Amino acid sequence: MTITPDTDLIVVGAGPAGVAAAVMAAGLHMDTLLVEATAIGSKLTVIGALNNVPGAWTSGPELAAAHKQDITRHQQTGRLTLLTARAERVTGHDNHAELTLHDGRTLTAHDIVVATGVTALTTTDAPWITTPQPLPLPPLWRMAPGDLSDRATIVLGADRPLGTWLRAHPDAPVRLEVLHPPADTYKTSEVRDDPRVSLVPVTRAVLDPLAQGQVRVTADGPSPGGYRRTAGAVVTNLGSSPAAPAGLNREADGYCPPDRQHPRVHVAGDLKGARMQRVSVAMGDGARAALTAYYRGPAVSGRSAV
Ligand SMILES: Cc1cc2nc3c(=O)[nH]c(=O)nc-3n(C[C@H](O)[C@H](O)[C@H](O)COP(=O)(O)OP(=O)(O)OC[C@H]3O[C@@H](n4cnc5c(N)ncnc54)[C@H](O)[C@@H]3O)c2cc1C
Repeated sequence: MTITPDTDLIVVGAGPAGVAAAVMAAGLHMDTLLVEATAIGSKLTVIGALNNVPGAWTSGPELAAAHKQDITRHQQTGRLTLLTARAERVTGHDNHAELTLHDGRTLTAHDIVVATGVTALTTTDAPWITTPQPLPLPPLWRMAPGDLSDRATIVLGADRPLGTWLRAHPDAPVRLEVLHPPADTYKTSEVRDDPRVSLVPVTRAVLDPLAQGQVRVTADGPSPGGYRRTAGAVVTNLGSSPAAPAGLNREADGYCPPDRQHPRVHVAGDLKGARMQRVSVAMGDGARAALTAYYRGPAVSGRSAV
């Protein structure tokens, strides 16, 4: 079936990859629809300290604000539309691609760029953690120092954002007890000498919610049941998994390599693989995805105006 797509390009996700794709496409006079579930640069807004980013930005909120301005500028040209909605499924067809939204609407374009990034793992994703019921614990990297009291905070997992968080808040008077499986000890080298951190290798941790937001944590380490604490502040730091809408081709680890997708569906940024999850890589991916759609055609509505 041949249809006339609603627009030239749909970009899903307004992080660094999606913003780069949208800005590149709109700059090339492609009619572009940017679909974002929450807010432009939502992840960047909670990253206190950035490094190795194009433009030498050192603060995530400032880069997110710059992204917003870029999107607004292109919205004013009439070539870029921002839609706040959650994408559910992406489907490639011979002459178009289709995006199904959470509310059931279907949108079509010549091509779709998917740049939905990764999402923080929760306690139910970690085989070494047992909870009698799902506990909505926040990830460490979303916490401001003021959110954590001067009493010890229990951190579940030793993933990379721990070091980033401590670097971002060098003077925060926190005490972090970091529980992690012994196999993850290699992840702790960056924080091992920070006096604010106690590293506790554990093979199993059981979390029991108590009254008034307290959580009892009992863990096997160094001896069975050898770690017992009750704390008000328990946060996760368990790593992340791809936030892929349905319809993409995935590897066993859930990531979506660009070369495994339908030719009209382009994956960019953190979603493509666990390696090189960096802002600069995401921006490069996004720009490349938009250019791929632009040069491949077919007829792009605004192209004659360039
Ligand atoms: C604590 C921390 C510190 C970091 N520090 C650095 C650093 O110093 N330097 C560096 O280069 N990188 C750093 N990174 C990595 C960097 O943040 C990522 O590589 C980058 O944000 C990836 O961009 P992205 O556009 O692929 O994904 P994201 O930034 O994750 O953006 C994805 C967007 O897609 C949206 N989305 C998700 N699912 C859907 C859906 N179904 N429908 C619609 N929208 C959706 C999300 O709301 C989000 O806005 C850090 C990451 C963390 C967590």
